[in-house]
Amino acid sequence: MSFADLGLSDELLRAITDAGYSEPTAVQAAAITPVLMNRDLIAIAQTGTGKTASFVLPMIDILAHGRSRARMPRSLILEPTRELAAQVAENFEKYGKYHKLTMALLIGGVNMGEQVAALEKGVDVLIATPGRLMDLFGRGKILLTGCSLLVIDEADRMLDMGFMPDIEEICTKLPATRQTLLFSATMPPPIKKLADRFLTNPKQIEVERTGSTSLLIEQALVATTSRGKRATLRDLLKADDVRTAIIFANRKTTVRELAQSLQKDGLRASEIHGDMDQSSRIRELERFKSGDINILVASDVAARGLDIKGVSHVINYDAPWHPDDYVHRIGRTGRAGATGKAFTLVTDDDAENIANIEKLTKQTIPRVGAPKADLVADIAAAPEPKPADEPRGARRRGPERARPERAKPERAAAPRDRRDAPVARPAFASAPVEVAEPIAADADASWNGPVPAFLAARIAE
Ligand code: ADP
Ligand code: MG
Repeated sequence: MSFADLGLSDELLRAITDAGYSEPTAVQAAAITPVLMNRDLIAIAQTGTGKTASFVLPMIDILAHGRSRARMPRSLILEPTRELAAQVAENFEKYGKYHKLTMALLIGGVNMGEQVAALEKGVDVLIATPGRLMDLFGRGKILLTGCSLLVIDEADRMLDMGFMPDIEEICTKLPATRQTLLFSATMPPPIKKLADRFLTNPKQIEVERTGSTSLLIEQALVATTSRGKRATLRDLLKADDVRTAIIFANRKTTVRELAQSLQKDGLRASEIHGDMDQSSRIRELERFKSGDINILVASDVAARGLDIKGVSHVINYDAPWHPDDYVHRIGRTGRAGATGKAFTLVTDDDAENIANIEKLTKQTIPRVGAPKADLVADIAAAPEPKPADEPRGARRRGPERARPERAKPERAAAPRDRRDAPVARPAFASAPVEVAEPIAADADASWNGPVPAFLAARIAE
């Protein structure tokens, strides 16, 4: 599927090429044609899947015909925050560069005088936050009776922010015959109700969470070993600018131990896992949301159904056994418009899991070298890490590397990506030699999820 197949004008296709997009995202591929055909639309797709262009592009072609009238914007886009509103305006500038469309932006912090002057003359597109719009409407500066296209973007965030009553009121002020487009990452009942009331026979698109990862999430695999995991995690937490992180582990015991170990290191960490009742999980979640703690160690089962979004980092301490868990986990990062990071620690045992994840998400996740690893021999033998082998922002380690307490197996340094460069085996017999932990021993009785088929087979062996 290419942009040219969607029915967009040549000018627009040129602007898209200039912007550097080669292919439409799933939501764009599904939404653009029905919107061009003036259908109402409900599009549900997670953050970072390209929803903005899925309405901005067809709107530019729709608005290319017809003229604006004084004080009567021809289309209205509602956004929950000024940042998102400004991003949409930028999108109109970028893709509308071969069209002559006029625009006004009603958000806090923007000089209203100029925007009101633009509205007085008449604009093709009005982008606004609901509060600002209601304010101006109350002062008689805008007429919404000429507005035949309405976009309610980021509806779930509008709901969270308490904008529903404003939106309902705005909807009643628009002409009944209009096109209405609603975009949201989720579809909770109040939004469903809003859609039932204000949309007419909408085309509904839902981009499956499963298999679609956000364009806004930077993903990387960090090579390590089962013994080196803790040290690698600590290094990641230090090296990257981690503000808020959810760390996923596959087993309850790991979740518990890891949270304790991070607390011992003085980090503000807590845990949620399947042995805790729902109210304790919610309590921990509240502490996390309020900033009381900034690291939450979680199991998949416990995190499911909890509303945790917009963290700066997701770290998979264990590569998930089920590929859709990967998509769920990393979907917790990447806030609207902001990039999140998802790191997955991988050992040689994870090759099959990773292959399944890459197959499902149709991508190759970049590999980065572990900041440190676990062989004493490497301390003596290894040269300074090459910058290219370190994750971005990793601290360079100076002479302190040789300090005695660093010579513990868990804390030693091996900068290389094991997949690319075999690590030198210890040159002396007494050095701890790495032994892969037997899988059966790992699969402890407290695992609370399903046992994947390949693992069950290996346990049975
Ligand atoms: P959403 O509204 O679904 O959260 P956005 O519309 O903000 O997502 O888009 C997320 C990011 O993806 C933006 O940086 C945008 O420039 C980029 N993007 C959108 N469409 C494409 C595309 N077809 N190809 C490549 N990148 C895209
Ligand atoms: Mg958006």
